[in-house]
Amino acid sequence: MSELPPRESMEFDVVIVGAGPAGLAAAIRLKQLAPDVSVVVVEKGSEVGAHILSGAVIDPSGLDRLLPEWREDPERPLKTEVTDDRFYWMTQSAAIKVPLFMAPPLMSNHGCFIGSLGLVTKFLAAKAEALGVEIYPGFAAAELIIGEDGAVRGIATGDMGIGKEGEPTAGFTRGMELLGKYTLFAEGARGSLSKILIAKFGLANDREPPKFGIGLKELWQVDPAKHKPGLVQHSFGWPLDNATGGGSFLYHYDENLISVGFVVHLNYQNPYLSPFEEFQRFKTHPAVRDIFEGAKRIAYGSRAITEGGYQSVPKLVFPGGALIGCAAGFVNVPRIKGTHNAISSGMLAAEHVVEALAAGRANDELSGYEAAWRTSPVGRDLWPVRNVKPLWSRFGTVVGVALGGLDMWTNTLGFSLFGTRPHGKADWETLKPARDCTPIAYPKPDGKITFDRLSSVFLSNTNHEENQPPHLKVADMALQKSSEHDIYAGPSTRYCPAGVYEWVGEGADLRFVINAQNCVHCKTCDIKDPNRNITWVPPEGAGGPNYPNM
Ligand SMILES: Cc1cc2nc3c(=O)[nH]c(=O)nc-3n(C[C@H](O)[C@H](O)[C@H](O)COP(=O)(O)OP(=O)(O)OC[C@H]3O[C@@H](n4cnc5c(N)ncnc54)[C@H](O)[C@@H]3O)c2cc1C
Ligand code: SF4
Repeated sequence: MSELPPRESMEFDVVIVGAGPAGLAAAIRLKQLAPDVSVVVVEKGSEVGAHILSGAVIDPSGLDRLLPEWREDPERPLKTEVTDDRFYWMTQSAAIKVPLFMAPPLMSNHGCFIGSLGLVTKFLAAKAEALGVEIYPGFAAAELIIGEDGAVRGIATGDMGIGKEGEPTAGFTRGMELLGKYTLFAEGARGSLSKILIAKFGLANDREPPKFGIGLKELWQVDPAKHKPGLVQHSFGWPLDNATGGGSFLYHYDENLISVGFVVHLNYQNPYLSPFEEFQRFKTHPAVRDIFEGAKRIAYGSRAITEGGYQSVPKLVFPGGALIGCAAGFVNVPRIKGTHNAISSGMLAAEHVVEALAAGRANDELSGYEAAWRTSPVGRDLWPVRNVKPLWSRFGTVVGVALGGLDMWTNTLGFSLFGTRPHGKADWETLKPARDCTPIAYPKPDGKITFDRLSSVFLSNTNHEENQPPHLKVADMALQKSSEHDIYAGPSTRYCPAGVYEWVGEGADLRFVINAQNCVHCKTCDIKDPNRNITWVPPEGAGGPNYPNM
């Protein structure tokens, strides 16, 4: 590639990567505490919320602390309060209701709100801008800027208008350097720069491996007669087998909207498993099918969710910055909730940044933030549920979920029979060779309740500039063939929720095709490839899904 011109740079007090709940909460808190501090937020989505996908039943504790007046705000994005909370154990033909008294009080959804996290981030962005925060959607942070002393100085946004072969095109624009006294990384699950920081500064040394699930979601407009605003329903069991963790969510909210989704834990073992098809199958269960009859599917998307919890949280700080929200992995797994912790961790980090700036410090470690999180609301939320995921992984769904429930009860009373359980293997290590597994025959989609991938991706409004370098990088194509294809039977063709990966041809003509323009940025390939041979990097800013309200 020909030599590129130097980048221009802009200086701020604080640079924030990612306009999710964590990044925006940090920005708002910084300005609330120190109005003169300059804060910039970069967001890779075409607009704030375009890449946000969540359930979402939101525990309002974070929002209440950040914006105590939000419930009276006429523009508030959360209007449906939970009124009915149900939990089911599914078999192929039955849905057995689990009595709520069996679950510890921390699992209750009463007092929570149902809504779109995408709309929550739009609301937060407006509040941040009103306080003077500069937000730049359509700009991906593509590179870390590291000073000569090894400290993080900021980020560079990606160049625009680079062609497929890496050459500048007529539309070429050089990226910008955004430099800060501190940089907060709020990229969400499997952040592309956060991953580099974790490796570079050894932040995950002595921690359990990070763990993830893949979450798939559809938004449906249903018959008003079948809509019960405030109803929250979760299930585990069918269609997954006992060895595969995961479950469904189904939330009724606003004007006849239903958010339905499915999470599959990414430590699954059978390479023939397709999380997308498991989700489609779930909707045909007799207990839920009727809701979708005659209804209209209006949106689709997918995103990885962090599941490692307390024992997988890396060291949060390094010279010049910190990880906040799901970039650090603050999801409470049994509650499937991370928004409240994303907001609280953003606020906590902001408070330590303000203290450091007031003391005239810059580009050093925010060690106070690292020292504070375990006793903060975030640490207190994650501690009692820390064994649920490891017990589920170790003992399977039937026994593991029961033991997890018992452990949450005893933790509520102040002790655990299990101490703190390890997770063991990382998700990329858990697939078994295809020859040891049974292929799964999934039913064909009916086009009414169940669908194929491509018509689903269409509903995500995904768009990427076609003439750009691939943003899904396969390090070693020969290894992809000899291992991903020959040993594992091509699991990427099944775990990718957007049909990006295909093995086409036979024998000497066999090729790994990457339809990168369909990528919905869920990051699953970066997590689950059995050889860690695929790396997701940000494409040109503004590329990716355009979720209106996920
Ligand atoms: C299917 C599913 C269901 C869920 N259900 C719930 C629920 O019901 N309740 C709940 O509380 N939580 C739920 N969660 C978890 C919740 O969504 C997360 O905990 C929360 O979104 C984390 O917030 P965050 O700000 O850390 O990251 P995110 O919300 O992921 O936001 C990160 C933002 O950063 C941007 N970004 C990333 N990298 C870059 C980059 N390099 N440059 C520029 N921008 C970048 C992204 O585009 C995105 O906008 C669910 C998650 C999933 C996947
Ligand atoms: S290519 Fe990777 S990040 Fe993109 S949708 Fe598929 S699995 Fe997700």
